[in-house]
Amino acid sequence: MSGYSLLKNYLDPKQILDESSPELLHEYGQDESNFAAVSPRLVLFPSEVSQLQDIVALCNENTIAITPRGAGSGRTGGAVPSPDSIVVSTERMNKILDLDVENLRIRVQPGVITGELATAAQKQQMFYPPDPASLEYCSIGGNVACNAGGPRAFRYGVTRNYVLGLKAISPGQGLLKLGSQTMKSVSGYDLTSLLVGSEGTLGLIAEIDLKLLPHPQKRQSVLAFFPSAEMSIRCVSELIQRRYWPSALEFADEIATKAACRAKFKSFKGSMLLVSIDGRADTVHSEVTDVGLTLEKLGASDVLVAQNTKDEREFWQLRRGMSKALRESCVCRVSEDICVPRNRMAEMLRSIESIANDNQLQHATFGHAGDGNLHASFIANKPRELVSSQIDRAIHQLFASALSMGGTLSGEHGIGLSKRDYMPLEHSPDSLSLQRGIKRLLDPKNIMNPGKVLPEFQSCHE
Ligand SMILES: Cc1cc2nc3c(=O)[nH]c(=O)nc-3n(C[C@H](O)[C@H](O)[C@H](O)COP(=O)(O)OP(=O)(O)OC[C@H]3O[C@@H](n4cnc5c(N)ncnc54)[C@H](O)[C@@H]3O)c2cc1C
Repeated sequence: MSGYSLLKNYLDPKQILDESSPELLHEYGQDESNFAAVSPRLVLFPSEVSQLQDIVALCNENTIAITPRGAGSGRTGGAVPSPDSIVVSTERMNKILDLDVENLRIRVQPGVITGELATAAQKQQMFYPPDPASLEYCSIGGNVACNAGGPRAFRYGVTRNYVLGLKAISPGQGLLKLGSQTMKSVSGYDLTSLLVGSEGTLGLIAEIDLKLLPHPQKRQSVLAFFPSAEMSIRCVSELIQRRYWPSALEFADEIATKAACRAKFKSFKGSMLLVSIDGRADTVHSEVTDVGLTLEKLGASDVLVAQNTKDEREFWQLRRGMSKALRESCVCRVSEDICVPRNRMAEMLRSIESIANDNQLQHATFGHAGDGNLHASFIANKPRELVSSQIDRAIHQLFASALSMGGTLSGEHGIGLSKRDYMPLEHSPDSLSLQRGIKRLLDPKNIMNPGKVLPEFQSCHE
C-alpha cells in the first residue's frame, strides 16, 4: 500500500479530498500569489493535534512532502503545493480553546480566522493588535507561520510580539511544546520565535498561546491628501519627530490613491496618508485634531477627520481596498513587499519610479509607512506573458535597491516561493548554511513545505 493510501487510514473519509475531486484539489493548489495552481495528491483536514502528529510521522516515514495551509491568502506561493505533496489544511482546527481575561491571554487552534479572534477578545475588552489587511479571512496559524504584520505594527508590533508559546509538530523532533504561559520569559533559547515566520518549513503549528492587551477605549483617524508622495512621506517622519505615536501611519502614492478613491472620495487627488490614534477616550480626539492641523501646516491639500464610526469604517475600507482596486485597474500587476529604514522611503520611491521607467512599466506604491514597509507594484496594460522579462528585471532591481538602502526582502508577506531565489542577496553563505542546518535538525528528510524559503533546498523527491 502506498504512503498516500496509508494516510487515509488515519482520518475519517470526510476529512480527505483525493483524486475523485479534481476541481477541489485544484482549488487547494493555489494561494493569493501569481503562481499557477499545483494540485496536491491529497488534501487532509485534521481536527486534533493527535491527527497532525500521525500525519507528520507517516509522511516522514514514507517521505511524502507536506504543504501546510491555513486560509490560502499568502502572497508568496508559500501554500502552493510542491509536486506530489499533500496539503494539510487547518481550516477545521478553528476553535478558541481558552480566553483568559485575568491574564490577558488567548489559546487558539491554528485555523481560527484572525478577525474572529480579535472580535472574541474585544467582546471581553481585550485587544489583539496585529491586523493584516486580510484579517477577515486569513488564519492565525498562517499569521504565525508568516509572522504577519499590518497597519498597527508601527505602534504595537507584529505577530511574533504576541506569541507566548505554541505547540508544533516537526518530522525530526515530533511534538514540540515551546514558550511559556507568562508575559515574560528568558528561559533557554527562544525556539518559539524560531517557529514564528518559518512558513511551514520547520513544522506544523498546532496550537498557539497569544498575549492580549487591554482594548483602547477609542480610535479615531485622519485622512489627508498631499500634492506629492514625497510630501506625504516627509510628514511620516515629521509626526514621529513631534512625538506622536499613532497606531497606524499608512501611505499611498498618487497612482494607488487614484485607483482606490471611488464614490465618496472621488474628488480627492494626490498622495494619501491615513493616521490613526488610539488610547483613552478623553485624549484621542484632541490628539487627532492636532495631527490634522499639523498635516495641514505641512502642506496637505485636504484633511478629513473621522467624525463617527461610519467615517472611520470608510477611511479604512479605502485603505484596505487598495490592493484590489489596483488589481482591477490594469491587466497585469505584480506587487512586492519590501521594507527600508524609514528615512530612506523617499529615496526608495524615487528608485521605484526609475526602475519602472527603465523597464517601460507603470508603478504604484502603498504601505505601512510608519515601518518603512512598502508594497511596490509594477503594472502593465498587457498580459503578463508579454512583459514577463521586464517585470522580472524590475523585481530584481527593486530588491537590489531596497537591500542597498539597508532594507529587507520582505516586511510581512514572507519569502515563500516568490523570493526564495533572492535570499542570497540578503543573507550571507554562513547565515544560509546555519538556516539549512536548523532545517535539517527539525526536518531531516525535507518533507515540510520543500522548495520554500531556502534556495537549493528543493523537493524531497529530487
Ligand atoms: C488582500 C490581501 C491583503 C493582505 N494583507 C496583509 C497584511 O497587511 N499583512 C500581512 O502580513 N500579510 C498580508 N497578506 C498576506 C497573507 O494574508 C498573510 O501572509 C497571512 O498571514 C497568511 O495566512 P493564511 O492563513 O492565509 O496562510 P496560507 O496562505 O494558507 O499560508 C501561508 C504560509 O504559512 C504556512 N502555514 C499556514 N498555516 C500553517 C500552520 N498551521 N503551520 C505551519 N505553517 C503554516 C503555509 O505553508 C504557507 O507557507 C495579505 C493578503 C491578501 C490577499
